[in-house]
Amino acid sequence: MAKFDLDLFVIGGGSGGVRAGRLAASLGKRVAIAEEYRFGGTCVIRGCVPKKLFVYASQFPEHFEDAAGYGWTVGQTRFDWPTLIANKDREIARLEGLYRKGLENAGARIIEGRAVLLDRHTVRVGDETLTAENILIATGGRPNPHEALPGHEHCIFSNEAFDLKELPRSIAIGGGGYIAVEFANIFHGLRIETTLVYRGKEILSRFDGDLRRGLHEAMEAKGIRILCHEVFEKVEKRPDGRLDAHLLSGGVETFDQIMLAIGRNPNTQDLGLEAAGVETGIRGEILVDDYSRTNVENIWAIGDVTDRVQLTPVAIHEAMCFIETVFKGNPTRVDHQDIATAVFSQPEIGTVGLSEEEAARRFGELEIFRASFRPMRHTLAGRQDKMMMKLVVDAASRRVLGAHVLGPDAGEMAQLLGIAVKARLTKDDFDRTMAIHPTAAEELVTMYQPTYRVRNGERV
Ligand code: NDP
Repeated sequence: MAKFDLDLFVIGGGSGGVRAGRLAASLGKRVAIAEEYRFGGTCVIRGCVPKKLFVYASQFPEHFEDAAGYGWTVGQTRFDWPTLIANKDREIARLEGLYRKGLENAGARIIEGRAVLLDRHTVRVGDETLTAENILIATGGRPNPHEALPGHEHCIFSNEAFDLKELPRSIAIGGGGYIAVEFANIFHGLRIETTLVYRGKEILSRFDGDLRRGLHEAMEAKGIRILCHEVFEKVEKRPDGRLDAHLLSGGVETFDQIMLAIGRNPNTQDLGLEAAGVETGIRGEILVDDYSRTNVENIWAIGDVTDRVQLTPVAIHEAMCFIETVFKGNPTRVDHQDIATAVFSQPEIGTVGLSEEEAARRFGELEIFRASFRPMRHTLAGRQDKMMMKLVVDAASRRVLGAHVLGPDAGEMAQLLGIAVKARLTKDDFDRTMAIHPTAAEELVTMYQPTYRVRNGERV
């Protein structure tokens, strides 16, 4: 008789947990996976997927405007938020069904409920107790509630933004990262008066400076108000239900709604980690090694709960490395180098590798190739928005260290640029690549002369 009920117990049915559970089950392993809310996790239920659908929805007003230059007359338009919500809900229900079916077809047992570790091999869900040789924790994260802010309970977070009963007329968003920037553009596109309140000098702190400035200018040109070096000090609810935001600079401004997007915390509370002896870090994240193994030999953790890189494809990659390591006898380190990423702002950001600033800190001399131009599709539309492309090249080795795009379809481009940067291709490889004309992306292979050089951190 087997020593344990299961070969693998997965806690958390998000992108990482589902992938690991499905793959392990398809290898013939005895797998159970517990989820307390809905299968699909943040990405499918209240993250990437509904967000992208909202981005599409918010882009239509610009499409309607642009149509005139191409000869179209668009009749009266009207936006219906409940229709968008209902259609979005239908789509995520469909995706959730696919996640469940994938697990079932692979032979994994689905358990609905909150799992708690009783010891390093035992998990309890509801009335049931199961033992497993290996346990994988993939419980994800949740918005930072910003409890230090007086009145934070009046604010909404990304979770609520996906299911608002009705759209506000005005909103202020606190934060300057992915979520704050993406939602600022969504709300603005849906014709809501939008203000972004960011504590630092410039939004998107870890991105290339040209992308940050370029996006800031483009957002302001559209009519999004961006307050940098600014924070909420207090939020108060008025008798009419609106919210007064007291700002660090001294002013008080009134908004229909305030959304906070100041990072996400790992979901490690009340999981029984102490009972199992699993160590966590300062933010509550589960500490793991390069293979996603915790300090307890048979307990592993992947995805946002480890607070390494909070991105869905990273969680999935970590799941696949876990399967190789634990069930295929092929110990595989997780590779977090050169992760291509997109911010679905409007205009979009697509980026991979080092920013100019980061590269300047690490390399002696850089060649920077940068182009800024009006994409063809904007010409007849009469739209003035510029597109920006930038390659950061190590002058000594000619290796392309970073590739950055601001403009339509930047995320799609970054996916492919990611292969080039990952493969450590050189600028000469880019130069030898034939352009596709007419595209915007052709600019990436036709920037032959450096725009400027960076030596010892200085532009020359
Ligand atoms: P981010 O880490 O991207 O941004 C957090 C923002 O909040 C930063 O601007 C940060 O400022 C600011 N901030 C942090 N603490 C405070 C504070 N106490 N007071 C005021 N401002 C504060 O987190 P998000 O919440 O935007 O998103 C969470 C994660 O989800 C992201 O890291 C990303 O990995 C993922 N995500 C990815 C998306 C994508 O791939 N397109 C889309 C949405 C989310 P500062 O920069 O100065 O530290």
